[in-house]
Amino acid sequence: FPLIREICLEVRKPHAPVGLPFASVSVEIKRRWYKAYLAMGANLGDREGYIRRAVEAMEQEERIRVLQVSSLIKTTPYGGVAKEEFLNGAMEIETLFTPEELLDYLHTLEAAAGRERKEHWGDRTLDLDILLYEELVQWTERLTIPHMDMANRTFVLKPLAEIAPYAMHPVYRQTVGMLLDGLEKREGIQGKR
Ligand code: ATP
Ligand code: CA
Ligand code: CA
Repeated sequence: FPLIREICLEVRKPHAPVGLPFASVSVEIKRRWYKAYLAMGANLGDREGYIRRAVEAMEQEERIRVLQVSSLIKTTPYGGVAKEEFLNGAMEIETLFTPEELLDYLHTLEAAAGRERKEHWGDRTLDLDILLYEELVQWTERLTIPHMDMANRTFVLKPLAEIAPYAMHPVYRQTVGMLLDGLEKREGIQGKR
């Protein structure tokens, strides 16, 4: 039912073998389509193929709707570990997954692309990161949302600004377009020094 955004379902039992007085017992579940933005990167092998196949897999996944896919840009490695040139892009999706479920799912796609986790920031066939998830701000050991370093990365902000210039960063309270402008200005100043 594509028009349904959210559903709360309660199953209530007026009788149950519980040794206490009660009017009824029930379980309730809530499902909703959550908006998220993802970053995609690849710098080994058939880079475009790995990214395209991940997008196709998401299009087949019932708990994900792919809304927009940016064009892919070529970028030089960041952080001084990886050596090969990257292809980077961004996507807008809606998903029924929680952030942790979404991360697990993205890891299955990375594994399907034959990604080996050797060194942090090293070369990889496919990297899928969660950039934004609704207005969520969370910082746990496994998952930081918004993505910790997104405001410092042109290769993230450029493709994201192509598809979502007005998406808001819930911590900096700036749109993606504003973050990109600010970063390009800072980098321009550094470049002149
Ligand atoms: P970076 O996160 O700086 O872009 P990376 O993508 O190379 O570096 P990985 O080795 O792919 O890092 O991921 C390491 C771990 O980062 C993941 O296993 C995951 O638990 C954690 N992580 C934290 N926040 C996020 C996020 N927003 N999206 C994806 N992974 C995240
Ligand atoms: Ca990354
Ligand atoms: Ca990653």
